[in-house]
Amino acid sequence: DYSSPDGHDYEIQRDRVCLMDILGNGQFGDVHKGIYRDKDGNEIPVAVKTCKEDNEESMTEKFLEEALIMQQFDHPHIVKLVGICSENRPVWIVMELAKHGEMRAYLQNNKHRLDLCTLIMYSYQLSTALSYLESKKFVHRDIAARNVLVSAHDSVKLGDFGLSRWVEEQRVCIWEILMYGIKPFQGVKNNDVIGKIENGERLPLPPGCPPSLYNLMCVCWSYEPSKRPSFSDLKSWLSRRVLSWGSN
Ligand code: ADP
Repeated sequence: DYSSPDGHDYEIQRDRVCLMDILGNGQFGDVHKGIYRDKDGNEIPVAVKTCKEDNEESMTEKFLEEALIMQQFDHPHIVKLVGICSENRPVWIVMELAKHGEMRAYLQNNKHRLDLCTLIMYSYQLSTALSYLESKKFVHRDIAARNVLVSAHDSVKLGDFGLSRWVEEQRVCIWEILMYGIKPFQGVKNNDVIGKIENGERLPLPPGCPPSLYNLMCVCWSYEPSKRPSFSDLKSWLSRRVLSWGSN
């Protein structure tokens, strides 16, 4: 039963969805750009996650789990679920389209027009989304630039709830944003990263990053989890800085 607690039935008629180009490949199947025609006849740009028909039934269940998670949230910086086509195969998850795709690629390709103010605004927007999830006792486990989508030059959104669970783990990806999409600990083996962290090593100060923001990141990376700030702390800290740094 995929109807939500508020009584909204997320099942949509397949003939209201028109699939277009492939945007990317997900773990269950291709993700397409598409158009959804709503009941009032409006044509809404969407992203459609498809589940390959040769996937086992248990995989399809897992695939739909993501939609169930997404339907619980209503936040301007979290990708919204539009609906699902689950009554026959292939199963589709229809969601809000993030026009500019993955943040990592966007950061790398638009370096010249992304100033510090915009980068800090992205961090702030993500902190509001994560603080919202935290208030719902839900923590996104895979917060990395690759799971953030760009819907407009001034708006990023958290996507991909497939990997999230009710557990507390990673903290922020501000460092990746300030480094224009460079991956942390590049060229270092996963096992060696743990060793480096245990030795007290931390990611370096990104060029142009205000020292107070770097200090904040270092607090987030505290070895002792209890010393790390909550997302709600981060949100209020960043909201105070967005304005002051935005002006230069
Ligand atoms: P999965 O979690 O099932 O492996 P992803 O969420 O990583 O799949 O989606 C695969 C790719 O599809 C992403 O890397 C991204 O390029 C694209 N994509 C996914 N969701 C959207 C969306 N809402 N808007 C735009 N592009 C998207």
